[in-house]
Amino acid sequence: MNIILLGPPGAGKGTQARILVEERGMTQLSTGDMLREAKDSGTEMGKKVAEVMARGELVTDEIVIGLIREKLEAGGSGFIFDGFPRTLKQADALAELLADMGQTLDKVVELRVNDEALVERITARSTCGDCGEVYNDITKPIPADGKCSNCGGTEFKRRADDNADSLKKRLMEYYKQTSPLIGYYYAKGQHCRVDGLGEIDDVKTAIAGKLDG
Ligand code: AMP
Repeated sequence: MNIILLGPPGAGKGTQARILVEERGMTQLSTGDMLREAKDSGTEMGKKVAEVMARGELVTDEIVIGLIREKLEAGGSGFIFDGFPRTLKQADALAELLADMGQTLDKVVELRVNDEALVERITARSTCGDCGEVYNDITKPIPADGKCSNCGGTEFKRRADDNADSLKKRLMEYYKQTSPLIGYYYAKGQHCRVDGLGEIDDVKTAIAGKLDG
């Protein structure tokens, strides 16, 4: 089963993708993670995208489609597309890539969260530098002993683009360029919606209901 987790920044796509990886052995393909890796490794492409990402704008379709193509050409199945596609062009490219592999896109799960909650979540967000476990200053603080509850790591980081200015731009990009995908996948009969505002476990159960139902 191949699925897309669709939703604005802070909707919980990454958190839920990690759970699906752990519990169902699926493979998470996060273009945001791939771009951050490229940025950290200092490649030419990484340097090019770093400023675009810091501003909260979208990286070009050519670059992200190229990254996804590379991953898919390495083979496998059970993909969770997290943060991809973000434009109609990317959505068409994904349909073609999957068709070339003889695979289908089974479900597009939209995580619905209101904008105030997104701002709160994003500005309070940090992650473990070792395993990527996501923390929130208010709802899921870093354990008092300073060790990651998942891997015991002691380094935590905040994303450079998790600030109020960049978030405003990221939300604008979402509504302008990505939210039309809701209608696109609805028309294809692949869209379903889950309330992303609840506890992590409740959202997980709601997603499971859609995938297995
Ligand atoms: P994310 O980790 O998904 O929030 O992505 C972080 C940033 O990476 C975004 O704000 C964009 O600048 C860039 N990015 C990630 N995925 C894509 C994509 N599919 N298309 C264009 N830009 C992307």
